[in-house]
This record gives sequence, C-alpha cells and structure tokens, in this order.
Amino acid sequence: MANVGHPLTALRYHNEMEVQFPIATARHGFFSEDARLYKIHDKVIAGERLDESDALALYRTSDMLALGWLANHVRERMHGNVAYFNVNRHINHTNVCVANCRLCAFGRKKGSEGAYTMALEEVFESAASGYSEAVTEFHIVGGLHPDLPLQYFLDMLRGLKERFPQVHLKGFTMVEISFFAKLNKLTVRDVLLKLKAAGLDSMPGGGAEIFSERVRAIICDHKIDGNEWLEVAREAHLLGIRSNATMLYGHIEGDEDRVDHLMKLRALQDETRGFQTFIGLSFHPDHTVLRHLPWTTGMLDLKQVAVARLVLDNFPHIKAYWQMLTPKIAQIALRFGADDIDGTVVEEKIYHDAGATTPQGLTRQDLIRLIEAAGRVPMERDTLYRPVMRTETSVTVVA
Ligand code: SF4
Repeated sequence: MANVGHPLTALRYHNEMEVQFPIATARHGFFSEDARLYKIHDKVIAGERLDESDALALYRTSDMLALGWLANHVRERMHGNVAYFNVNRHINHTNVCVANCRLCAFGRKKGSEGAYTMALEEVFESAASGYSEAVTEFHIVGGLHPDLPLQYFLDMLRGLKERFPQVHLKGFTMVEISFFAKLNKLTVRDVLLKLKAAGLDSMPGGGAEIFSERVRAIICDHKIDGNEWLEVAREAHLLGIRSNATMLYGHIEGDEDRVDHLMKLRALQDETRGFQTFIGLSFHPDHTVLRHLPWTTGMLDLKQVAVARLVLDNFPHIKAYWQMLTPKIAQIALRFGADDIDGTVVEEKIYHDAGATTPQGLTRQDLIRLIEAAGRVPMERDTLYRPVMRTETSVTVVA
C-alpha cells in the first residue's frame, strides 16, 4: 500500500486576525486501505471538484481516518486552525403546527396538550433572559401556526430590533416562509421583503430534511418539497438575505439520497453564493412516529461532517452542531472537516423534544474549552463570521 503524502505549506496566516496558525495535516502523510480514496485524494490536493461517484465512495468507505484526513486537509486549507463559535439564543415562539411530519417531536396540534404560543411580550422576555452573556444572534424558528398573521412576525422582528439593536436576527426556515406566503396570500418574495424591512438579517437552513421525493413522502409529506425549499432559498439569496442549509440524515435515506441532496445544494450555491454554512442534522427518533428507528452512530455523524466538507467545496463553513451530535462528537468533528461548533444556543426546544440528552445551552467558556481541547484556536464570530471582541464591558464586531 503506497504512501502518497503530500508536501504542503506548513504554516498559514488567518486573513482577518493575522494570527499564525500551524496546519497540522501537513505533518501527516495520507494512507488508505481503500483504493478508491487515492483518486479522491489526488483531486482534493489539486483542489478539483468531487463528483457523485466520489461522494458515494466517501459515504461507503469504512476508512474513517483517511476520510478524516481528506476533510481535515480541506478544512485547514480554508480556515487554518481556527474554530468558530457564537453566543446566541434560540427563540421557538410556537410549537403549534398544521403539518404532521413523521420526523418531528416538536409540533403540536392547536389546543392539544403541550401546545404553546408565545405572546410577543413573552418573546421579548425570553430574548432578554438570555441576554446575560450579551448574545450576538437570536435564532428564531417555530411551527406552522394557522392563526398567526404575518403582522405577528413583523412586530416580533421590529420589537426585537428596538430592544436589542445590535443583535443579528436569524429567523424562519424556507418552510415557514413558504407557509407565511400561502397563509397571507402573498408571494415568497413579498414575504421576504416585508420581513427584511422589519429587521430580518438572515435565515437558518432548517426544513430541508432530505430532498429525495421518495424519502420526503414518508418522513415529511406535509412539508414543501425539495424544489420549493431550494426556490425559497434562491429568492432569499437574490434579495441579499444569506442563509444556512441543512440535511437531516440517519433515518430512512440511503447514500444516494444524501449525495443527491448535497449536489443540489452545491448547484444552488454555484448560482447564488448565498449559503454560509452547511449543517448536517442527525435524526433523533425519540417521541416521533419513527421512534422504532435507531439513533445515528458516532461513525455516521463524523462521516457526514467529513463528506459535506469534501463535497460542498463552495460552502465557506461546515458546522458541527453540538446540540445534536453531543459536545464530545462535535469536538472530534473539528478534526473531521468542521470549522464551527455552533453557539451557546440557550434554550433550544426542538431537538430536546425529540430526546436530545445534551444540555439546553453551553456557556461561552464551555465552548472555548471544547475547542481548545481539540487543539484548535477558538474564535467568537457573529452570524456573518466577523470576529467578535469582548471586554468586561463591551462586545464589538470587527467589521
Ligand atoms: S418538522 Fe416543522 S413543519 Fe413538520 S411538524 Fe414539526 S414543526 Fe411542523
């Protein structure tokens, strides 16, 4: 078995901070027991795009260390030794939802046990209660409530901006935007324009699940289809609203479905350049209709991070979402292609309803410790990946 180690530049400089970060991968040669990975290695080193067959081979390899080497190489080429995190708070304003996705443990029918909808004052109180660490982002997502008019969301955004003018408002999945449009008899573009005028800064990437029609028909047939999800994302990007993108994996999808999903995201990103970050979401089966399915394994979780880094060559960032992966796996993922470990989160409800056993939030210091223990250099970012500088009394975004 040949060793095809590649001489790489040993040090890189991070552009924004002008701090020297050593590139660890360069010290290790590449070696694999899987012959398919050598061709992929050559492409990765040359900076060439991987195709569908390469992506399938990556999903099907059991040589995790070689896969991790490749993903880590790309990750370090793009970001050096830096690992990003942010200080954010989730706001899940309602769990009332007209859809009935089999993958979901969060949504409730109106009036059913456990259903809740926050009055706007409650939203503002909830936002303020997470403010002790001076959050830089509110992440706002909820169910598809049949009675909440668009005005509720416009007032929510304006009210948050008035109270917390320096906090970035990242809100509403493509699924919610499409629902607002239908409910209010507006176009998606008009909804986005109104939300943007009210203070929406960017959008999260949820609701994409998996684009395959066959799988979607089983796990979330009440939701917009994959093409509509992509169409809303395109519209948002054209209006200058950046978003993330997600993929829910580890349920009934196959490798081909995952590859198809990544390829569609990559194609849209070629067109709009509006995606910031890809987040693989591991399926949590507890309390869902699909609770008979097993949980994802650590191997699949790490593999998903690595494949995403290698295939999504036009996505600036790959996130290891600690809430779903667990802090321990997310930390290891920082060596398997991820450059971002997400945020402090503070009070996430959606995945905890599906059985997530992770804490509902970590402190800024917890995240720094996880990152440093992974041998990375922590960098607090805002939602747009600008460095955030803190002192005892101030929080400054370095534009
Ligand atoms: S996944 Fe979203 S759209 Fe589907 S039922 Fe749950 S809250 Fe509603």
